[in-house]
Amino acid sequence: MSMSMSMSKRKNLVEYIGEAWYTIYSIVKGHIVTFVNLFRKKVTLQYPEVRWDIPLGYRGLITLPVDCKTGQDRCIGCMACVKVCPTGVIDVQTHQGDDKKRVVDAWNADIGKCIFCQLCVEACPTKAIVMSDQYELASFTKDEMIYDRKKLNELGGSFPEEPEKAEEEPYAAAKEGE
Ligand code: SF4
Ligand code: SF4
Repeated sequence: MSMSMSMSKRKNLVEYIGEAWYTIYSIVKGHIVTFVNLFRKKVTLQYPEVRWDIPLGYRGLITLPVDCKTGQDRCIGCMACVKVCPTGVIDVQTHQGDDKKRVVDAWNADIGKCIFCQLCVEACPTKAIVMSDQYELASFTKDEMIYDRKKLNELGGSFPEEPEKAEEEPYAAAKEGE
């Protein structure tokens, strides 16, 4: 009986020493990792005071820049973007004008559903839709996620007069043209 108790005590002591040694080892290892990282190049930013430079071609919020000649966006109400969008983000309302052309009454985008696939941009025959570099799109309500035409016009800026410039990088060019 007493022999088995002494063996049990010895076992506990060995476990205790093992755990104490592992704790010390973990603390030392953690400090070494911290110390080494003090001298490495920083990969984090003091967001939101400091932000990354967004690369050209970034797929952010869709916008509808206005044409500086007409003062309006280039949408002709063809519905191509509505049909191609895989998640049903875009809702365009139109009616037929006196000259038989479609007139756009409303253009809304439920940005909360957007997967930033760029298909609407590719499908638009007039290149009316431009993806911006805006990624801070969180809101408190679902209604705030619905962007109407006026808001998308404002966010998109205006297309520059030189078409080649708009062709290369539409959003950057539109911002320059503001
Ligand atoms: S980027 Fe894709 S998901 Fe977003 S509105 Fe365009 S087609 Fe729809
Ligand atoms: S595809 Fe372009 S022109 Fe057609 S409805 Fe959409 S934004 Fe307007």
